[in-house]
Amino acid sequence: MGHHVPDNLPSSIKHYIGGEVVDSLSGETFDVLNPVTNESYVTAASGQKEDIDRAVAAAKDAFDNGPWPRMLPRERSRVLHRIADIVESRGDRLAELESFDSGLPITQALGQARRAAENFRFFADLIVAQADDAYKVPGKQINYVNRKPIGVAGLITPWNTPFMLESWKLGPALATGNTVVLKPAEFTPLSASLWAGIFEEAGLPTGVFNLVNGFGEDAGDALVKHPDVPLISFTGESKTGQLIFANSAPYLKGLSMELGGKSPAIVFDDADLELAIDACIFGVFSLNGERCTAGSRILVQRSVYDEFVERYAAQAKRVKVGHPHDPETEVGALVHPEHYEKVMSYVELGKTEGRLVAGGGRPEGFDTGNYVAPTVFADVKPDARIFQEEIFGPVVAITPFDDEAEALELANNTKYGLAAYVWTNDLKRAHNFAQSVEAGMVWLNSNNVRDLRTPFGGVKASGLGHEGGYRSIDFYTDQQSVHITLGAPHNPTFGKN
Ligand code: NAD
Repeated sequence: MGHHVPDNLPSSIKHYIGGEVVDSLSGETFDVLNPVTNESYVTAASGQKEDIDRAVAAAKDAFDNGPWPRMLPRERSRVLHRIADIVESRGDRLAELESFDSGLPITQALGQARRAAENFRFFADLIVAQADDAYKVPGKQINYVNRKPIGVAGLITPWNTPFMLESWKLGPALATGNTVVLKPAEFTPLSASLWAGIFEEAGLPTGVFNLVNGFGEDAGDALVKHPDVPLISFTGESKTGQLIFANSAPYLKGLSMELGGKSPAIVFDDADLELAIDACIFGVFSLNGERCTAGSRILVQRSVYDEFVERYAAQAKRVKVGHPHDPETEVGALVHPEHYEKVMSYVELGKTEGRLVAGGGRPEGFDTGNYVAPTVFADVKPDARIFQEEIFGPVVAITPFDDEAEALELANNTKYGLAAYVWTNDLKRAHNFAQSVEAGMVWLNSNNVRDLRTPFGGVKASGLGHEGGYRSIDFYTDQQSVHITLGAPHNPTFGKN
């Protein structure tokens, strides 16, 4: 397959502020690279503080004076359903652009486009079904919750599955009546440039959605430090999250942080090994391994360890690396040469920390582009850096354990706590292990399949707060309590005499 380039690529990528497509005030731009060739294919406007100031002003004006926060939930819901319909109808184009810009395999990018539409549809439904609490103290008082949108939400997103992760924040932020400024990841601005047209067509009022492209340390930083942005929803690396946390502190902002992971998949000797191997292959090699919930540490009970490693390595070698646009491709090209260098440095490090049983470098026949062969290290010790640190590529560490207690100790032995996958047919063990493992989300005998109503988020260095379903609605709204006296007011009198 040659180097597929989508038709009608934009000649430049700009900001979208107050309903207009605009350049940076400074005129500055940055290059966006094609991950298959590492050549620049377009330039994007590089937002600075003054561009963020303009976008926040537009969003604040739409919040303070525009119709969106004041519309009935049903009216907002209709707009959100139209957005979902449009996203769905453009799924093929979206996936083509996403795969081209990010290097994700086209079949997996298609799934992400469907999920993005579903995020809007889900919050469109949820907002009309939303009920709020009322508390009655008979004869004395009634209290009710008046839920309100908060204001301008700052949304900062990463480059892995960019469009889907943007939809995840945009859906609930908009459904609840906030206005937004989105700062998408600088490696992958292409699919985000489609939002403006989709929102206009769906009838979202002007100024409700604003987008500023640019680097994290410029545009992202200015958004975090803007006094008129009371909420920041961030998905990205844990160390970026720490910095944003510190930079938000003077403003006491509401923060939702979805951060990194080094999630364990634990395979007990009574598991269905065939299913466990398939899941552990998909769990770390899907989305090029650029997946926050990747099962990047596999812990295997010693009695089945040798068999597992042998079968797993053989299957990993068969995983098909290819051009992202080829429907046969299972692992495409990593997003950017900087990220490729990082992943490759871990592959080299792994050769000194574990036993290489598959991959270990560039796959044969791929001389250019950010291709990494699915790489498997066995016998990895828990103090190894490849056991402890997030690699965010198609690289996995396998470690043996003897009993349940040791499995738990190994599983919890990292700073992260995003997901865990447990493979066992022992019902009690499955639940007891799930409840003890330090992870925000646990899958028992399952791949990462998530009902949108369930909480999503990590513990420890993997995040702060949970999104998903009503928890997202809670994050993007204030719950004001209103108290009404029904009887004689409880009114101790001071200063009568
Ligand atoms: P990153 O932290 O480098 O960047 C994420 C976003 O933050 C980008 O838009 C970037 O421009 C911006 N940013 C960077 N510095 C900033 C600053 N000082 N102030 C404000 N914004 C700033 O992360 P990445 O490399 O784009 O994404 C990969 C990471 O994201 C991985 O660690 C992965 O695990 C994590 N992730 C987590 C989840 C989750 O839900 N927990 C989901 C996807 C990805």
